[in-house]
Amino acid sequence: MSHIFPRHTKAHLPVVAGGEGCYLIDTDGKRYLDGSGGAAVSCLGHGDHAVIEAVKAQMDRIAFAHTSFLTSEPAEKLADLLIEHAPGTLDRVYLVSGGSEAAEAAIKLARQYHVEKGETQRGHLIARKQSYHGNTIGALSAGGNEWRRQQFGPLLLQMSHIDPCYEYRYREDGESLEAYGRRSADALEEEILRVGPEKVMAFMAEPVVGATAGAVPPAPGYFKRIREICDKYGVLLILDEVMCGMGRTGSLYACEQDGVAPDILCIAKGLGAGYQPIGAMLCTAEIYSAIESGSGFFQHGHTYVGHPAAAAAGLAVVGAMIERELIPRVQTQGEALMEKLRERFGQHPNVGDLRGRGLFRGIELVADRETKAPFPPEKKLAATIKKKAFEAGLICYPMSGTIDGKLGDHILLAPPFIIEDAQLDELVDKLETGIEAGLAS
Ligand code: PLP
Repeated sequence: MSHIFPRHTKAHLPVVAGGEGCYLIDTDGKRYLDGSGGAAVSCLGHGDHAVIEAVKAQMDRIAFAHTSFLTSEPAEKLADLLIEHAPGTLDRVYLVSGGSEAAEAAIKLARQYHVEKGETQRGHLIARKQSYHGNTIGALSAGGNEWRRQQFGPLLLQMSHIDPCYEYRYREDGESLEAYGRRSADALEEEILRVGPEKVMAFMAEPVVGATAGAVPPAPGYFKRIREICDKYGVLLILDEVMCGMGRTGSLYACEQDGVAPDILCIAKGLGAGYQPIGAMLCTAEIYSAIESGSGFFQHGHTYVGHPAAAAAGLAVVGAMIERELIPRVQTQGEALMEKLRERFGQHPNVGDLRGRGLFRGIELVADRETKAPFPPEKKLAATIKKKAFEAGLICYPMSGTIDGKLGDHILLAPPFIIEDAQLDELVDKLETGIEAGLAS
């Protein structure tokens, strides 16, 4: 009997034996095309020798040194590289072990920044209903994903959620995309005024929404308007790019495509590409100097902050993305994937929306294309598609949930950046097998 505590306690999972490029292989020799990079993690694919060698070399040098005493070369170099390519005035990098830790650090830094400035009332965080920021209790409080939160209330933060920017579900008939983007962003101003601007510390959002609704990009102009509103009221803008960042949408940082820079940015997943657990929180020079000239101490920290072997992996991964010109490849392969999805599912009676950017694509399934009515939750459609696709040899990321009763089932695709055209065809074929089997069940 196994003593592992699996998340799904009734699941009996195959054991992974190896990986090769876009494929994972189990101990029975079955191959799975990694169509979602796990959960948008494995951007370089599996078995990347350069990254493996970089981690090994660092392990031979020194695996761990506590950052209360010593910093390390890979951590310093990784911070420099991330900032060299970062938008706006982002200037400092706080290295952590994953996405939830990055979100926690971001929320605490926003709070401490205001406290250092004497704005002690600013403790309220605004986020969006359609969002996931992590599973630790602070990040979970920030996220707006009801099914993940419902067993844990009351949650910890002073916070509220506004409607997402989600044109498929929220744009009104006849409304232009630009007008919708503006209206959707203006909901933040209304909420700041309702709460009281002097009480709001930050607004937190994913530039392209990942796990709660399958690669939903913002409407044009949405984040520019959000930035204006944040600046008007002295509210910090935290962008969570844990899933959509690190090249996944076709630019190193997803927010570049919306022409905005945040005050605080969270990254993880693709940063280590699965070779080591690593995440990071980036902040502006202004925030850093408020801490530096105030208490001089960020009241936060985990044992594995700045872990040298993890930093070596991050450095090798980001270096590989740049040197191998993988980000332009994300754009071309992303367009190719979208084209194939359109050809195969564009007219499908149960596919309501195909969307996303780069190699970050979502498929929303509906019972009725006209009314956009979702399937009943009891059908467990997304979970069944995941299962059937897996049987066919494809890993894809399912999600179902609800925002004001509007959201249904969707599938998220986030394959490795190295995916070839023939593998895109294989992905779409196997996905079709999964979708048809799921609908029939
Ligand atoms: N933020 C976003 C946008 C995510 O998608 C996730 C994970 O899916 C997290 C935070 C949490 O990251 P982790 O699972 O590494 O803690």
